[in-house]
Amino acid sequence: MKKALISGMTGQDGSYLAELLLSKGYQVFGMVRRSSTLNDDRIRHIKDRVVCVQGDLTDQSSLDEAIRVVKPDEVYNLAAQSFVPVSWNQPGLTGDVTGIGVTRILEAIRKHKPDTKFYQASSSEMFGKVQETPQTEKTPFYPRSPYGVAKVYGHWITVNYRESYNVFACSGILFNHESPRRGLEFVTRKVSHTVAKIKLGLAQELRMGNLDSQRDWGFAGDYVEAMWLMLQQPKPDDFVVATGKTYSVRRLVEEAFSAAEISLMWEGKGVDEKGIDKRSGKTVVSIDPTFLRPAEVDLLIGDPSKAKRDLGWTPRMSFSDLVSCMVHEDMARLKSK
Ligand code: NDP
Ligand code: GDP
Repeated sequence: MKKALISGMTGQDGSYLAELLLSKGYQVFGMVRRSSTLNDDRIRHIKDRVVCVQGDLTDQSSLDEAIRVVKPDEVYNLAAQSFVPVSWNQPGLTGDVTGIGVTRILEAIRKHKPDTKFYQASSSEMFGKVQETPQTEKTPFYPRSPYGVAKVYGHWITVNYRESYNVFACSGILFNHESPRRGLEFVTRKVSHTVAKIKLGLAQELRMGNLDSQRDWGFAGDYVEAMWLMLQQPKPDDFVVATGKTYSVRRLVEEAFSAAEISLMWEGKGVDEKGIDKRSGKTVVSIDPTFLRPAEVDLLIGDPSKAKRDLGWTPRMSFSDLVSCMVHEDMARLKSK
């Protein structure tokens, strides 16, 4: 039985990847960090089928111990401080966890189990101020946030350990991917959750940041399959994982309101203090400067041709199905509460 160790198992991708690996007959170990409250919402349904190992990407000895004891065939490094706005507020911590943390886990592999296959969760945020469109594995990086900068470090140290120490190390450059398990602070889930609340009469307005930025959004369940496929290839390599389509944040908002069958109005005159248009009674979407960023990534669109050709991977869920599924799942959860 193959053994896989996932860092970040309690996160969105970690939970989907754990399900996938269990379905393939792996023994799954998940690295979890100490917290004063239990944080297992996303993995509760599989908790009796996975083994939790204590560890933190800021602590070398815990990573050494995890690799030494588990002796995994595959390691998926999904742990990170993953939210871009927090990276301006905590740039040092983001660099330590999201950047140097990758070196720590690679060092643990090099010392204790050098034939482990390693997957690094790299990000389209590395392209930042994009140097070409669409973005491929060859597009130069130009990160626009401490998060993006830390991910560039993580990417290159992964390539470096592959070239210097012959570690089977792959970097998956994944574009934004979402699901009903996405953190509430990310734009898709913030919108789906707020729209669900508006539908159920629990909220009356939606406050947004930049509506003009464009993202290549896919479904997390599809993307974890690409991670696994990378580690099943004869040679380690780096791959862009994306849908090849891009949509604006404005379109995301419109799509979510339409999925919930609510008519929306953009901010204007005649709006009362609850965000309702006085004449039409319609829910209003407004711009709140607190959600604007010091530097923006305006347009991301990935070219997944290499993943299609070499991994046989294709995304399955469309943008409108993804948004609709997130809105309906949020409504169902809120109703059941
Ligand atoms: P999440 O934010 O949902 O999950 C992050 C995970 O990292 C959580 O399990 C968290 O644990 C863990 N973690 C955070 N800090 C530490 C630490 N110091 N030591 C150990 N574990 C830690 O992210 P996603 O699942 O969405 O993303 C997975 C990975 O893919 C991340 O590296 C992200 O940056 C990257 N990525 C994501 C994209 C996306 O669109 N989702 C796009 C491209 C890359 P806890 O639960 O305790 O907080
Ligand atoms: P990111 O691409 O990793 O930064 O993922 P996010 O989901 O956090 O943001 C995607 C885009 O949505 C960015 O361009 C944000 O500026 C934009 N955006 C607009 N309004 C909001 C908001 O209220 N919250 C978040 N998180 N992003 C927003």
